[in-house]
Amino acid sequence: VFRWRNIPFRCAGRTGLFMQPEASVLGKLYAWLCDNPWKNERYDHPAPVHLNELVVEFQAVFADGAKMPKLQEYLTDWKKDAQKGSAPVNLVRDYYRLLNLLGVQSLDLDDPRASSRMGCLARFSQILADYEHVKRRARYVEEDGKPVFRGGQDRGIWFYRQLFNYLQHYALDAYEDFEGEDTFDLDTVDVLTVHQAKGLEWPIVFVPCLTSHRFPSSRAGEEPNWLIPETVFSRKARRRYAGGVTEERRLFYVAMTRAKDVLYLSRFRRRTNRFRPSPFLLEVAGGDPPVVNRLPLPRKFTPPTDEADELPTVSFSEMAQYEDCPLRYRLSTSLGFQPQLVTELGYGKTIHHVLRRIADVTREKGRLPTNKEVEALFHEEFYLPFANRAAFEQLLANAKKLVKNYLSKYSDDLLRVWQTERFFELHLDGAVVNGRADVILDREGGVPNRLAIVDYKTATDAKPDDVFAFQLAIYAAAGRGEGLDVQAGYLHQLKDGTRRSMPVDDKAIHSARTRANSLLAGLISGDFPAKPEKKKCRACDVRAVCKHAICSKYDY
Ligand code: SF4
Repeated sequence: VFRWRNIPFRCAGRTGLFMQPEASVLGKLYAWLCDNPWKNERYDHPAPVHLNELVVEFQAVFADGAKMPKLQEYLTDWKKDAQKGSAPVNLVRDYYRLLNLLGVQSLDLDDPRASSRMGCLARFSQILADYEHVKRRARYVEEDGKPVFRGGQDRGIWFYRQLFNYLQHYALDAYEDFEGEDTFDLDTVDVLTVHQAKGLEWPIVFVPCLTSHRFPSSRAGEEPNWLIPETVFSRKARRRYAGGVTEERRLFYVAMTRAKDVLYLSRFRRRTNRFRPSPFLLEVAGGDPPVVNRLPLPRKFTPPTDEADELPTVSFSEMAQYEDCPLRYRLSTSLGFQPQLVTELGYGKTIHHVLRRIADVTREKGRLPTNKEVEALFHEEFYLPFANRAAFEQLLANAKKLVKNYLSKYSDDLLRVWQTERFFELHLDGAVVNGRADVILDREGGVPNRLAIVDYKTATDAKPDDVFAFQLAIYAAAGRGEGLDVQAGYLHQLKDGTRRSMPVDDKAIHSARTRANSLLAGLISGDFPAKPEKKKCRACDVRAVCKHAICSKYDY
């Protein structure tokens, strides 16, 4: 009806994730890869999974039953590799390759049902990423009395078997379906159940279909089919879980109190049989409301002016991601497709962390740390969660070189550090932007209380220099708003030890504000066009599920 009347709408989460056909067939796939049976509900009987049936089900769910000629061969090869178990597994990457083969990228994100399906698939990527984050996490182990870095588990059939256990015995009950995109005040109708609406509010709420037997439900108070014997779980104890009219009344209260300004309660008169009004409706309306052809418009009202408190908050990196490609922002941040795990993940962060600790030690001791102290800090603080031992040692050596270079050229900085990882927040026209500056130096130009903001760039940071300049101008604007005397901004390239001054004068700040306001307006209004470019798409985490990706088949 909404579509027919051209009313924008979006469907919020429906049920447990695995009640959705997409998640259900994916669960079966991971069971089949390690020869396990699958069940979709906790108390179902597990059923064996056969390749032919699996292919038919994938075709039914993803292609309306049309043949997918390459699928059977693809799954067979995948299973062979999984069972051989000699190569490292990258679960999220393999999942995205499958989605690409299934043609998920051609789903129309402007169709709320399709975007809801995409949300469900994104939620499944979250399960895989959660599992992978735990299994592939590296750690230090004690060997010959010394701590030695060891990569996590990333291969072998047990990797898949334990994933199956995780899916079947934990994720099945723990992961809810996609609740709708995490967008900012989109001007659409949200369609959802009362249970899903708990804790949320809208300016106008409609509670339709208030007929008897529906609200309260005719099944309220029915004795559930308990599997636990009465000797263990007494009749009296069971009554606490039986629900009933009181519980339904509470639910009705929840529904009504979701409205901030206007609430519509309505019922229909006829379908095939005659329906009586809900007793709750009769109570609230003081009788059966008259039949109307259209609901009356609300009386004029002025919404409370608390909007300043409700400005959406966006981090600078989210805003920069939106600028780079709005569609990528939607797929990864709003829908929730997870990035693939890469060995060097966390490299930039851990170098920043070591530098911060070096600055802290300098401040505490009032002098520069010795080489031995720097080594000790590396030992304590440098950590790459998903590296194997060889990669870890290589990246550790690189990081030490960068930091030592920095210390030999810029050790004076450390004696001028005012704050590290300083939080900034800038109020703009329709939103608040926040972020953390790496380091703030005091005595810029030799004058006390004159500050300079420094942002470090590592080799793994793909952000262009122009975006760093934008970031420094935003932080400078926020700092000045707090009354700080921010006089300079620097981009420090750790790789070659060069430092460039970036403009943070009034002109630069004005243009950064204008740029940010325009980006935020697009982001908040839900405008997500694709900005494909070959280089960008090939490095994009969500390229496999994006129909605009400029990639060859080898890039997946
Ligand atoms: S693949 Fe390219 S167009 Fe698609 S989301 Fe990524 S960067 Fe944007």
